[in-house]
Amino acid sequence: MPKEPFWKTKTLDELNRSEWESLCDGCGRCCLHKIEDEDTEEIYFTTVACTLLDAGTCQCSDYVHRKKKVPDCVFLTPEIVREVDWLPDTCGYRLIDEGKDLYWWHPLVSGSMETVHEAGISVRGKVTAYDHDLKTDEDYFDHMMMAESPSLEN
Ligand code: SF4
Ligand code: SF4
Repeated sequence: MPKEPFWKTKTLDELNRSEWESLCDGCGRCCLHKIEDEDTEEIYFTTVACTLLDAGTCQCSDYVHRKKKVPDCVFLTPEIVREVDWLPDTCGYRLIDEGKDLYWWHPLVSGSMETVHEAGISVRGKVTAYDHDLKTDEDYFDHMMMAESPSLEN
């Protein structure tokens, strides 16, 4: 019997460092700014990217120093994955924590870093502004994301 891959057998808390890092599909969605409706507490994604996001690769352009350069960048941990309500439905951490499988386009399944882009899951081609370009909070309303998860076929 072939051995089951780690994401099917381990919980988030049991992952080693390299397994943890590889669970990120590279979509870049968590690096987009969100707006919270104060009345309903509902979260809306915008297409405004964090200043360090490379909109082409959808990777952080300075991952090692990200906290120093962007103090409110959130380092994910199993606890934070369970706490926050702004990780997209497609996020690898969220899926595994919810006992679900990874989608076909996840690099761990497909073997390619390109499939997350080909499936339309990543933010490639969707970023309309960077936060350093916007002057006021109201400017974010001009950059609301229309659909959070465009393609979820397994
Ligand atoms: S949303 Fe999840 S899978 Fe996508 S880049 Fe962020 S941490 Fe990685
Ligand atoms: S600092 Fe890097 S990892 Fe953090 S939100 Fe910005 S682009 Fe994403």
